[in-house]
Amino acid sequence: MELATNPRTVNLRQFKKQVVENKRKMKRFLTKLENERPRGLDKITPVLEQEVWTEVDCLTCANCCKKMSPTFTKSDLVRISTHLNMTVDAFKEKWLYFDKKDKDWMNVKQPCQFLDTSTNMCSIYEVRPADCAGFPHLSKKKAVDYMHVHKQNIEYCPATFKMVEKMKAALSLVQISRSAR
Ligand code: SF4
Ligand code: SF4
Repeated sequence: MELATNPRTVNLRQFKKQVVENKRKMKRFLTKLENERPRGLDKITPVLEQEVWTEVDCLTCANCCKKMSPTFTKSDLVRISTHLNMTVDAFKEKWLYFDKKDKDWMNVKQPCQFLDTSTNMCSIYEVRPADCAGFPHLSKKKAVDYMHVHKQNIEYCPATFKMVEKMKAALSLVQISRSAR
């Protein structure tokens, strides 16, 4: 008997290789979408996002929690520090710094202090920052306003990478069917 393997397992080593090989092309494609603003993008992104999650299991990845920092809003700070029985000031002092350029509170530490690296689970999942809850923003409206977000995330997030691959394939199909009319 063999243990069944999870078909949604993320292979981060393979992902990093794919990023090196494809990131320029993908960023150019995203810029093109920003400029051309194709019709129907908002309709296809929720469908493509659903497909992405049938192929990606975040619990086998956690690369965002390992390599990026969420931004902490005022209400995140109150909610999380209350959950941890700390004052907001003590919480900031212990874990965060203020990014003067973007005016955001960010993690000092990477991986995130709340990531359990043995399970890839978030120890404050129920009260996690809104930024984490919404990440990786695959089918937000208007989709075209999130292309700059995908450009950044494509290097860290395998789900974003797949999403961009799928957008490319879907939009080239639309173009082919239009030019065949
Ligand atoms: S708060 Fe939780 S979900 Fe957000 S980065 Fe940290 S471990 Fe990940
Ligand atoms: S959101 Fe992206 S980077 Fe984060 S765990 Fe899921 S696939 Fe990995």
